[in-house]
Amino acid sequence: MIVLFWDIDGTLLTTAKAGAFAWDDSVREVTGCDYDLKSVQIAGLTDYQIAVNTFKNLGINPTPDLVERLVHRYEELLPSSLPRRKGRVLDNVREVLEYLRLERQDIRSYLLTGNTRVGARAKLVYYDLVDYFPEGAFCEDVSDRATIAKRAVKLARSKGEVAKESMFVIGDTPHDIKCARAISARTIAVATGGYSVDELSSYKPWHLCARLPSPKTFVQLLDSSKDTQLPIPSEVVPPHSQ
Ligand SMILES: [Mg+2]
Repeated sequence: MIVLFWDIDGTLLTTAKAGAFAWDDSVREVTGCDYDLKSVQIAGLTDYQIAVNTFKNLGINPTPDLVERLVHRYEELLPSSLPRRKGRVLDNVREVLEYLRLERQDIRSYLLTGNTRVGARAKLVYYDLVDYFPEGAFCEDVSDRATIAKRAVKLARSKGEVAKESMFVIGDTPHDIKCARAISARTIAVATGGYSVDELSSYKPWHLCARLPSPKTFVQLLDSSKDTQLPIPSEVVPPHSQ
């Protein structure tokens, strides 16, 4: 069994920052302050981390209650903000997901996202990808992406045995590459979000491409992984072996 953990923003789709309207409106309702999320670098951060950053940028103490209120209101406003920008499903994404659904029942896809469950669902419903992802691991609190990744592994393994060599994180930021290391998965990094191929290459993903490959190339890549060794992530190399 091969397991794929998919990031959403910049990997499956782009909302063209339409979600920022919902965010800024939520900030205004909760704090009374104006905010411009589009001017802040948030690629790869979880929704709760973005909330904490927002309060800090506004000089407000990010109490758990305020963070919850901001994220919850954002979730409520998101569906109506998505049509305000012309986003799209990224190149080859629908083709790959459709190919996997029809041809490769031995490859299972899950979401592994810094979006909350409700926020993720709003985006996938709007871009008509929701049926490809019955399950996933989402942002539930202020903990980091590695924590979400560990939940994703637990979820995948609850359905059957999954070898480390058969787990892939597909994402567009260094945060995705780091969270893949935290679960000893391989990263397929795509430069379709906020980071270029050059920027991503310095984080040494297992595979790096300008955009998601065509379905045939993509599955060849997955199948070829059985013959290539998984590098030991630098974070987990014990000091005495260096
Ligand atoms: Mg992303």
